[in-house]
Amino acid sequence: MSGTLYVVATPIGNLEDLSPRARQTLAAVDLIAAEDTRHTGRLLSHFGVKTRLLALHDHNEADRADTVIEALRSGQSVALVSDAGTPLISDPGYRVVQAAHDAGLTVSPVPGPSALAAALSVAGLPTDRFCFEGFLPSKQKARRDRLAGLAGEPRTMLFYESVHRVGDCIDDMIETFGEDRLASISRELSKLHEQVRLATLGQLREQLAAGDITAKGEFVIVVAGAVGAGQSSLEADELLKELAGKLPDKEVARIAANVTGEKRNALYKRLLDL
Ligand code: SAM
Repeated sequence: MSGTLYVVATPIGNLEDLSPRARQTLAAVDLIAAEDTRHTGRLLSHFGVKTRLLALHDHNEADRADTVIEALRSGQSVALVSDAGTPLISDPGYRVVQAAHDAGLTVSPVPGPSALAAALSVAGLPTDRFCFEGFLPSKQKARRDRLAGLAGEPRTMLFYESVHRVGDCIDDMIETFGEDRLASISRELSKLHEQVRLATLGQLREQLAAGDITAKGEFVIVVAGAVGAGQSSLEADELLKELAGKLPDKEVARIAANVTGEKRNALYKRLLDL
């Protein structure tokens, strides 16, 4: 009988987030294929797990997939883990999972932490439809081109970002989406210095510049989707009607833009029409 390939999620910060089933699986399998064996070794020793480790990272995945498939075919069970969170999500593993399917083997998830789901769950932005954009390119031109392709994206967008580029990335998002677009920054989720903010992109830029959001650690940026160009949602129209005459027109448009994520200029024009 062939073994099963378990795809096991591990903590994104707080070790207590390793599920009992993940721990049991890691202890019970014959082999753990890990992105960084030293890193996973520390996790395993914390939980008293002594299973054999095999390095499987982006640069050797194609070769190591064969080793993993052979082990599974010979009846051994294998767990696939990455350094943190759910493997394959901006992490190695998909070639191994694909090879296991191609070989007719059983692939089973042990679900758990992922910065993607964690950030979305606290962002305070629509979750009915969203898209995951992973890491944006590190070079500014390529990053701006990628963002330009998302200018009309109606779904909530999620980006992973490194501490070195989070400020530049917010600047480029402002270029494409406008400073009034609502967005959230989640930093160091589940760790000691966790921060979660929901504000406009312009406000987030100010908070970063002022050090109010600390430029350290790991980040997820979640950006509200675009509302159809030239259109105004019912929610925005109601808000504009409610506030019209009670505050200066520009202030009304600013507040409606903050609340709905729609463009301030478009809302200002709509207010004048109303
Ligand atoms: N596979 C992982 C997952 O399921 O979340 C993601 C791996 S990816 C190489 C690492 C990126 O995930 C980081 O650069 C950051 O954008 C995000 N990330 C991971 N842990 C995080 C945390 N505790 N708080 C915020 N973002 C985190």
